[in-house]
Amino acid sequence: MDVKQLKKDLIAYSKEIGIDKIGFTTADMFSELKNRLIRQQELGYQSGFEEPDIEKRVTPALLMEEPRSIIAIALAYPSKMNERVEGKKGERRGFFSRASWGLDYHHVLRDRLKKLEEFILTKVPEAKLKSMVDTGELSDRAVAERAGIGWSGKNCAIITPEFGSYVYLGEMITSIPFEPDTPIEDQCGTCTKCLDACPTGALVQGGQINAQHCISFLTQTKELIPDEFRDKIGNRIYGCDSCQTACPVNKGKNYHFHEEMEPNPEVAKPLLKPILKLSNREFKNKFGSVAGSWRGKKPIQRNAIIALAHFKDDTAIPDLIEVLEKEASPVSRGTAAWALGKIGGESARLALIKAREKETESEVQLEIAKSLTYFK
Ligand code: SF4
Ligand code: SF4
Repeated sequence: MDVKQLKKDLIAYSKEIGIDKIGFTTADMFSELKNRLIRQQELGYQSGFEEPDIEKRVTPALLMEEPRSIIAIALAYPSKMNERVEGKKGERRGFFSRASWGLDYHHVLRDRLKKLEEFILTKVPEAKLKSMVDTGELSDRAVAERAGIGWSGKNCAIITPEFGSYVYLGEMITSIPFEPDTPIEDQCGTCTKCLDACPTGALVQGGQINAQHCISFLTQTKELIPDEFRDKIGNRIYGCDSCQTACPVNKGKNYHFHEEMEPNPEVAKPLLKPILKLSNREFKNKFGSVAGSWRGKKPIQRNAIIALAHFKDDTAIPDLIEVLEKEASPVSRGTAAWALGKIGGESARLALIKAREKETESEVQLEIAKSLTYFK
């Protein structure tokens, strides 16, 4: 097997199938990452969505027999919508972060990785391959960094010189000893723009993130969002891009290479009030194909309630009262109680008093009691 030639062929083929950047690294252990993950665990900074076994996250040999290399891929996604929403005065909209525009990127990247696998297997039928995107054991970012895709910014994103940090990442462990590429040098320098832009101070100097404070993570939880973060969430109903939009390297980076990634503005920037009334089926029809729907309807509804409170949208009061009175989920009822207090007005106050008599869940009672203090 001529591995050098195969690498060249693979790079050429990756361009043909719409992979914007490809890099190669060894299948060695990610020792530095291991220390960082242990530290993160000790500090309680983890999101809880990650693979719990740190050894698996840093040891390719635990994931596939005889690993000899890892191929990292990156696909650039748009940062601006080509189409605008038809806005009417007074209509309030939420915002899905850019990584949730268009078709769920897991599908798009898996498709590209599958094509790469097929290509490799035509040349080396005995090759062992294992691909992953985001939910795999390995850290996409650690692999991409070591494979020379980009450097790891202080905003904890991989920053490519070509496309900024607006890239999706995926990787494939292989049994082929491809020659590794050289990592890109860190170019953040003395810049701290992302840290300054983070609404919750979730970025810790030195490229660490406290996921428990990060809006991107908080919008994906299923529980009541801690009070201290609700006002900071604004109209983000899924994810947060502030530490990306603030990054000078991302300035002017807006690539529309992939049809599947084109956002439907009515989905990426949806009207807030209708979200409160969606049935499960309606939610699936409207949002089911985007990455931001992976946790289901409830977190998006809760976030839409927070966004309506952010806008102090008093036209939403009847809908919020309906949520408070009829919604089965205590998280939605509790968040609606909080939102009614934030928006204010006599009908909101009376609805809270009425709900106080009937509510049986203690966490919702607490929200109602807190909310009523806003009227004093
Ligand atoms: Fe901060 Fe938002 Fe970046 Fe999270 S995604 S670190 S909240 S700016
Ligand atoms: Fe690095 Fe500055 Fe971008 Fe943060 S904003 S990732 S410090 S270049």
